[in-house]
Amino acid sequence: MSTDLRDLYQEIILEHSRKPKNAGVLEDPTAEAQGNNPLCGDRITVYVKLDGDRIEDARFDARGCAISVASASMMTESLKGKTLDEAEEAFGRFNTQMTGKEAPELAEDDELSALMGVRDFPTRIKCATLPWHTLRAALKGAGDTQITTE
Ligand code: ZN
Repeated sequence: MSTDLRDLYQEIILEHSRKPKNAGVLEDPTAEAQGNNPLCGDRITVYVKLDGDRIEDARFDARGCAISVASASMMTESLKGKTLDEAEEAFGRFNTQMTGKEAPELAEDDELSALMGVRDFPTRIKCATLPWHTLRAALKGAGDTQITTE
């Protein structure tokens, strides 16, 4: 990764962690789940409101590090309006990019790429994937579920 790109990505993460999008409790969610990353101490609750099989709204309430908050902020932004199938696809793509052996393709116009710098710090990968696992648990459980990353 070039130094310029790394700086740009750090800027994006800082911006999202300082002023997270979709932070706060969602009233009357269709589904919610709590996630816990004991390695870092991140705790997050993700709320989803569905309209049929489409994600009408997604919010989160987090006590966590900059990376987990930025990841949750970007995730909720990118998934609003998506169908459940599209969300599952996005989860798979993000998870593979984050944990796969191959270096992911980076796109300057895709904010989620900003998180890929975390790949260099294996203990922080769970911070970035926690919101996604939690959202997925909410969608699968369609109720109040709890997950803990191992
Ligand atoms: Zn963390």
